[in-house]
Amino acid sequence: MYVQEASWFQKQQKKKAWQKRVKGYVMCLILLLSVFSGVWFVPLNGKYFPVEGHSINIPEQVLAQEAEEDAKTESDAPVKCDEEIQEESSSNNMEDNIIRNQDDGINIVAIDMGHGGMDEGCSFEGAEEKVINQKLGMLLKEKLEQLGFQVVLTTNGDEKKELLSRLECVKEANADILISIHQNACEDYGVQGIETWYCEASGEDSRRLARLVQQYTILYTKAKDRGIMDADNLVIIRDSAVPSCLVETGFLSNEAERTKLQTEEYCEKLVQGMADAIELYFYPKTMYLTFDDGPYTDSTNKVLDVLKEKNIKATFFLIGKNVEKNPETAKRIAEEGHTIGIHCYNHDYNVIYENAEAYMADFEEAKNIIENITGVETKLFRFPGGSINSYNKKVYKEIIEKMTAAGYVYFDWNASLEDAVKKPNKEKLLKNAKESTLGRKVVVMLAHDTVSVTAEALEELLELFPEYKFCPIDENVQPVTF
Ligand SMILES: [Zn+2]
Repeated sequence: MYVQEASWFQKQQKKKAWQKRVKGYVMCLILLLSVFSGVWFVPLNGKYFPVEGHSINIPEQVLAQEAEEDAKTESDAPVKCDEEIQEESSSNNMEDNIIRNQDDGINIVAIDMGHGGMDEGCSFEGAEEKVINQKLGMLLKEKLEQLGFQVVLTTNGDEKKELLSRLECVKEANADILISIHQNACEDYGVQGIETWYCEASGEDSRRLARLVQQYTILYTKAKDRGIMDADNLVIIRDSAVPSCLVETGFLSNEAERTKLQTEEYCEKLVQGMADAIELYFYPKTMYLTFDDGPYTDSTNKVLDVLKEKNIKATFFLIGKNVEKNPETAKRIAEEGHTIGIHCYNHDYNVIYENAEAYMADFEEAKNIIENITGVETKLFRFPGGSINSYNKKVYKEIIEKMTAAGYVYFDWNASLEDAVKKPNKEKLLKNAKESTLGRKVVVMLAHDTVSVTAEALEELLELFPEYKFCPIDENVQPVTF
């Protein structure tokens, strides 16, 4: 039965891709029409309007309808919190795919441009490391300041300065983080790519910063990803009192990379990656991890172990029958601060979706057991198979009406591990997770703690998303529904 859980979601994803393609064809046609007729048409709210002079001719009733539709939440879009809505209304470009919270005050970023003065760093064929570091550092400073950050440099431009006095600057400026920029070199001239260093001993924040810098510089440059690396002998990051990382943006010993690093265009890409990373460090997006169908003893406990170690809270939609079988694990979920939602008592679609009464009776049974065993009273629930699936087409509206009237809130999902399949494979699950988030600001991720591969993949899964903070769903979170 697991297979059904994701089918509606998968169909929706395919449908969306197809709609996108059709939209592209229509736009091409409109463009051709504009060229041949001499009248320009602009798209608005899915329709096209002719432009007269500098103004667009939009009938009033269309404007009214548009306002009304704006007020509704798009059924398949992630629901946004107030902060995000404010942010979206001010601008809509790619960089703003990031949550800003103006109440946090100004964050201070220290930039350390490696080497300087007599110390030129590595140099090949006239390309000096210190020059490239300074160029990137100054570009990054400019970009971060535009984004509202305060920036402090650890050197006065091109000067030789001891590492400890650089760190003194970071301390004096009361900086929140430090990023040190360097170029690499290798005896093997074929070696190339970006790598980011952090010091494990300085804590999880440094590691997260390094992961973000690595991920986003690679994203923009498409350079070879050499990964993040732990080092306890790099003074600038080891002795920094604030979270820090050191990025080696490329190999000057490699001809192709050296050439790129000397171009404006490539430097822009690198800096854009670093700026995005830093912004996401301070203003992460939100992911709600949700686990369905548990609890099982082994796999659920494994999931709980990982979450505990990483200090992450998630949400579990429980099956009453499984709670009866594994009461200790159900209790553990509640005790460790995760939130609980009701999935069903009997995970048999033919039985529960026979009619609304059958659904309500099953739900009631699950609710009582979950309450009795875990002590948790919850208004959260998730439909087996999601709110709309091939088994409940005739009854879902009535069920939703009844459940909503009774004060219950249901959550579907907008990303999925697709782990409810036969013979799930770890690599595939991780790939599904990464690809299905689509960079959304708010992600509700579907997973199953009853699948042992999911439990095995969890640690790596969490590593994949340094741009997200993980939160449990509670009754104040706006539901994500199909
Ligand atoms: Zn389920």
